[in-house]
Amino acid sequence: MGRLDNKVAVITGGASGIGEASVRLFAREGAKLVIADLQDERGRRLAEELGSQVIFQHTDVSQEADVQEAIDLALSMFGRLDCMFNNAGIPGPGGPIENLAVEGWDNAMAVLVRSAYLGMKHAAPIMKRQGSGSIVSTASVAGMQSGFAGHAYSAAKAAVINLTRSVATELGESGVRVNCICPGGVATPIFGRAIGLDAEDAERSAGTMLMALANIQPLQRAGVPGDIANAALWLASDESSFVNGHALVVDGGITCGPMWTA
Ligand code: NAD
Repeated sequence: MGRLDNKVAVITGGASGIGEASVRLFAREGAKLVIADLQDERGRRLAEELGSQVIFQHTDVSQEADVQEAIDLALSMFGRLDCMFNNAGIPGPGGPIENLAVEGWDNAMAVLVRSAYLGMKHAAPIMKRQGSGSIVSTASVAGMQSGFAGHAYSAAKAAVINLTRSVATELGESGVRVNCICPGGVATPIFGRAIGLDAEDAERSAGTMLMALANIQPLQRAGVPGDIANAALWLASDESSFVNGHALVVDGGITCGPMWTA
């Protein structure tokens, strides 16, 4: 018995990092799913590896038509939609506020916030008709506290957290739950780019990232994609059926405050 038997999911950003780990875990737990990502080669390879229960769809999550198409594909191929996992993301621009270009700000908002809104908007009518569903978005501890990331990224993730709460109060009466996850530092390409490694280096330099993260997280280790995938699995499954409007912090304790030194 899988924990997601007979369930259908769309996972955005499913070609890499947290999304890829979630795709693998959801599939292992019995879900049928659509990987919605910009990275065609990685996404297709992953779908092929996992077999006919997994389909790849080229998707730019900032574009309404693309998000709708990915959801429509899940519906037409598998007949329902039980979990919309709005997970795709980018690091966002860094630097002082006076140098933050409007283009960088707008792009961060489009990829990080508009995407979650679009996923919720197009999943909601299907899930309301079914009378059930779980919408999960990947926010960040950067949306709860300052200092973890650039201004645009932090603002965008805070927006995802409150969008989650707002929509949860609307869809609850239809049996649809809306939650988000706030990861701390997780060793993935996005984190590598945030600390100045290019995407390929980031994957090769997992050791460097793990060490950088271990030094600042009370559990003394970096998060790994599977840590967040496990949280997503729980929120997608019926095990969390009374959890709604929640921002689930999965951060090794980094938001507890400064490291204990006494
Ligand atoms: P990642 O770079 O491994 O994965 C991000 C995925 O999103 C990639 O596959 C990428 O192709 C895809 N993507 C980017 N822009 C897209 C777009 N416009 N349309 C479709 N797909 C797009 O990074 P990750 O760490 O797995 O990131 C997943 C989520 O976790 C993001 O929302 C990120 O902000 C969030 N997050 C990550 C960390 C961390 O430390 N890694 C911490 C907190 C939150």
